[in-house]
Amino acid sequence: MTAPGEPAPARTAAPRDARPAGSRVLFTGEQIRAAVERLAHEIRAAYGGEELTLVIVLHGGLVFAADLMRRLDMPLRVGVVLASSYRGTATRPGDLDIHVPPSLDLAGRHVLLLDDILDTGRTLARLTDEIRARGSRSVRIVTLLDKPGRRAVPLQADFTGFTIPDVFVVGYGLDWNERCRNLPEIVALGGPEA
Ligand code: 5GP
Ligand code: MG
Repeated sequence: MTAPGEPAPARTAAPRDARPAGSRVLFTGEQIRAAVERLAHEIRAAYGGEELTLVIVLHGGLVFAADLMRRLDMPLRVGVVLASSYRGTATRPGDLDIHVPPSLDLAGRHVLLLDDILDTGRTLARLTDEIRARGSRSVRIVTLLDKPGRRAVPLQADFTGFTIPDVFVVGYGLDWNERCRNLPEIVALGGPEA
């Protein structure tokens, strides 16, 4: 805040360093919006007017969830779980760390588990087991991205935005060392052409 009479701080252009050097855009904000709209349509068709419990995998699912949930018009409950499999600057999965809050009420619920990306499948397989063990009525999975070539456990999403090759992507919630989640587009940091 600026005190009355004090000059306002000089306005500088927004920093443009959020997008890592050398990265290339895979999906623009506009393409993502269209995919989210299509997914919302598929989800509405699959559940009808049934109440849904959207379980967001943090932190990666945050941006996607915020956009998707506003396009769903059935009664909706929202919960969050924590999962992390990438550590430090590594771009390969390390140990899996998951936390499902004991207070998250899943018994008898239709659960839609939402994450940014389905990669090896380990995170969502573990979370699906945990949610079922809590007595959910059904569990389905929605991810914005899918890398089927990297699957280590047999798992498929019920709703998928985009299928991509084995490239490391950031933006729209996906991080690189906790950065870049704020990018409005999805960019690839090297690897084969999409
Ligand atoms: P999985 O357990 O399926 O191997 O990994 C899922 C998690 O790994 C995702 O929720 C995401 O956090 C992370 N992940 C997998 N691939 C990528 C990627 O290309 N970029 C980023 N930023 N995270 C990824
Ligand atoms: Mg994640």
